[in-house]
Amino acid sequence: MDSRLTEVLVCPVCKGPLRFNEDRTMLMCAKCAKGYGMIGEIPVMLEKEARDLSPEEVEKARVKPAA
Ligand SMILES: [Zn+2]
Repeated sequence: MDSRLTEVLVCPVCKGPLRFNEDRTMLMCAKCAKGYGMIGEIPVMLEKEARDLSPEEVEKARVKPAA
């Protein structure tokens, strides 16, 4: 089984798209306003390990159409 990290990662709660933060240490879900941390290159996709995002982070996590 080859589970590559290049696959699109989705939120374990809402199955929505996740985005990396600027330094790629966290995956963010705008819908849930949650951030999932990383252990090395492995994202920790556990709801209980997630932290609440600030409004600024939620804004960055939101997938915007190219304007
Ligand atoms: Zn979510």
